[in-house]
Amino acid sequence: MNMASYLIKPFLDQEYPIADYGKGIYLYDNEGKEYIDGSSGAVTASIGHGVLEIADVMKEQAKKVSFVYRSQFTSEPAEKLAEKLKDWAPGDVNWSFFVNSGSEATETALKVAIQYWQEKGKPSKIKILSRWMSYHGITLGALSMSGHVGRRARFTPLLEDFPSVNPPYCYRCPFHKTYPECQLMCAEELETTIRRIGADHIAAFIAEPIIGASGAAIVPPEGYYQRIRDICDKYEVLFIADEVMSGIGRTGKAFAINHWQVQPDMIAVGKGLTGGYAPLAATMISDRIMAPIESGSKLIMSGHTYSANPQSTAVGLAVLEYMEKHQLVKRSEKMGTLLLEKLHNLKQKYPIIGDVRGKGLLTGVEFVSNIFNKIPFASEVSVSKILIKKCMDKGLLVYPASAGIEGHGGDAVLIAPPLVIEKEQLEQLIKIFEEAVKELQ
Ligand code: PLP
Repeated sequence: MNMASYLIKPFLDQEYPIADYGKGIYLYDNEGKEYIDGSSGAVTASIGHGVLEIADVMKEQAKKVSFVYRSQFTSEPAEKLAEKLKDWAPGDVNWSFFVNSGSEATETALKVAIQYWQEKGKPSKIKILSRWMSYHGITLGALSMSGHVGRRARFTPLLEDFPSVNPPYCYRCPFHKTYPECQLMCAEELETTIRRIGADHIAAFIAEPIIGASGAAIVPPEGYYQRIRDICDKYEVLFIADEVMSGIGRTGKAFAINHWQVQPDMIAVGKGLTGGYAPLAATMISDRIMAPIESGSKLIMSGHTYSANPQSTAVGLAVLEYMEKHQLVKRSEKMGTLLLEKLHNLKQKYPIIGDVRGKGLLTGVEFVSNIFNKIPFASEVSVSKILIKKCMDKGLLVYPASAGIEGHGGDAVLIAPPLVIEKEQLEQLIKIFEEAVKELQ
């Protein structure tokens, strides 16, 4: 099949296998080769591939109605999914504004934050603070908030310069300190930044509770998010948790922020919300943030043609019900512990592995050329790229992640298989991964 004219390949000069079908944690190409989906695609296919219950729901919903426009109708699946998400979300995060991608979810959160302060009579609060080593999406608003140097580079003149705070990256502490003697300088930096810019100008702070693609599953030290919440409260700055990658059970809790029992004002979700069976994401908003909008303009100034699409929301609802039925959040915690244990074993054996981290089934492996002084490989080498290729040849998919703050380089991969993975399958995954790592020595 000649696909040369379709712009679906990320790198135009590379060949990609043609996906044929999937079953559970496995994908098969049209030549019959089997791949373990060790990254759930882009950390998306949480319930695995080819789940017939979901296919049935899609068919039934399509027979009833696939599309209604949100200014004319609501729909039963959208209403039920919004209701179900209330049970999943922490505290008073009870409202869902449905969109189609994670980028739209974070960008809508940005807009809601600005609108919230306008409705409260504080229109100068328009800046969103964020961290370096973060990814909040590819559209310009979301990219403005993203501290992903590579993805920003071409568009810098068009971007608001939002990222301003260092990440809680203990393996390569930006302040060259060690926890707990550091006294959480990375969190304290938020306060100094707010004071420097002026709280009157700042609407919100956005962060991935566990840093995904731009950090390879970086888990902050204890007390970090509690301190972030205190600082946000002190300066009237909203706290947005970007859980597009880490949410919906991926890290062994419904939302990753729950590991620290901290209450966000808004949560962005996507990816695992439909497990890849339909494009859907949501900006989840707390009662506190909705209150002035409800009593004020009564309209969130955002939305897309496909927002709250009946077909996509029916899939979202079915996926959450499937996760509840099969207790996949608990399973993510259990299998994640096992996966981390096995990755730590590999770290003991192979000095090329500098760090292993993560929670639940969101794990990261960072590679170094020298384990003692953590020197990364030269950027031209990209060990992760070579490793990803080797894994793929051997029938395992892992996801590229950049790690390292600017000037530090850093090479890493994410391992995040579907939450349905069995113990024997995990062993199979590790076996292939180890074979590939061994070849890098
Ligand atoms: N936020 C986070 C934390 C992500 O990991 C991603 C995608 O990887 C996004 C936002 C953007 O989501 P999407 O690619 O669906 O637009």
